[in-house]
Amino acid sequence: MGNDTSRRPLIGIDVGGTKIEAVLLDESGAVAGTLRIPARRGADLVVDDVCAIARDVAGDRLADVTRVGIGTPGQVDSATGRIANVVNLDVTELELGALVSQRLGVPVHVDNDVNAAAVGAAAVVLGEDLDGTVVFLNFGTGLAAGILIDGVLQHGSSGAAGEIGHVPVDPNRFPCPCGQAGCLETVCSGASVARLWPTDDGVPPMPDLIARARAGEQAAGRVLGIVVHAIVDTLQIAAQSVDPKTIILGGGMAKTGEPLVEVIVDELRTREAACPFLKGLDLASRLRLAPFDLPTAAIGAALA
Ligand SMILES: [Zn+2]
Repeated sequence: MGNDTSRRPLIGIDVGGTKIEAVLLDESGAVAGTLRIPARRGADLVVDDVCAIARDVAGDRLADVTRVGIGTPGQVDSATGRIANVVNLDVTELELGALVSQRLGVPVHVDNDVNAAAVGAAAVVLGEDLDGTVVFLNFGTGLAAGILIDGVLQHGSSGAAGEIGHVPVDPNRFPCPCGQAGCLETVCSGASVARLWPTDDGVPPMPDLIARARAGEQAAGRVLGIVVHAIVDTLQIAAQSVDPKTIILGGGMAKTGEPLVEVIVDELRTREAACPFLKGLDLASRLRLAPFDLPTAAIGAALA
């Protein structure tokens, strides 16, 4: 993001349901520091913790910091910095941007966590080459997409752009907490896969599911079929809506890595065999995995 260089250093903070992570980006855009603390519940503590981690990650450079970016779950009004209904943190309504800005004396931008992760993943995967459209699919606890055009986040008219997890197209018609049935999120989010394929504590379900399906376990094959069908539906809906040059797979489920890409590509090839139009799009060639060795959501919060 070369045009931003003059405005650094920047602080990025990723507020999650269980942890808060912060990065300091120096003038060259390099990560100059990272910190992680456990998240505490309640509006006052969220503000305290965000301010504390910002001060700590900046150290004696706080006075030079030109902007603090925050990514958070829940409903986010990125124009005002107000957040609402962050269930995991017991926050009903909070003027997060204004309060943090007041205390730190630095301008603050707040965006939703998936959008921040999208910006961070795109910056890390693509570097300065951000021309064109990029879709970031977040297969996290929930399912949502972040859309960037020429490096700029697309929020839509009400902030709901990319809320693809609640498109109700899955034939299994599982009920969704949103009130509909058959939402993509009920089948191919991290929480849904954990429900459809329960594993022992600490064993991530997706790699286990793929390994067992490959070993010929029938039940695993059936569940994997349901999950991958929905993942590829998600991918096609996003890709055929905005025709991105790059589709980045992110969120906890994407930590499965290459085995996940392989099952997705297999399903795409099956569909392409029946559809020359889809074959022509060659969506497989546009797929990239989000990097997991860097705090991409916090980096994205700084850059968003
Ligand atoms: Zn839903």
